[in-house]
Amino acid sequence: MTGESHIFWKRSGTCNPDACGAVCCKSLIVPADKTWCDADTQRWLEYHGIEVKHGEGRYVQLHIAIACQMLDENNRCRIYDKRPRACREYPFRPSDDPGCTYTFEKVLPSR
Ligand code: SF4
Ligand code: SF4
Repeated sequence: MTGESHIFWKRSGTCNPDACGAVCCKSLIVPADKTWCDADTQRWLEYHGIEVKHGEGRYVQLHIAIACQMLDENNRCRIYDKRPRACREYPFRPSDDPGCTYTFEKVLPSR
């Protein structure tokens, strides 16, 4: 286990899809465990067009290039006030989407 697995992030700021092109709504992003996604498995996923992004600790994301059907032609969510929890909570950490306009502050848990 690395020290990074004890890091938590406090998110602030706002979403600006004009700045990022609504990148997170244009992929289905599935969290996975790095121990499952070894180099050979990653190669297999990439043959299917699935991008693997490595995050902190044991965390990886599988980015499957499928745009959400609720995204309109202006990169706005048609159901923003009723969007799913996965949309409300994403991103969780700065490495999730480097182009994202949310900002993060590192929080170390008290012992
Ligand atoms: S529901 Fe809205 S916020 Fe969620 S992925 Fe679709 S367009 Fe984006
Ligand atoms: S949450 Fe971040 S990456 Fe997603 S649309 Fe908003 S600014 Fe872009």
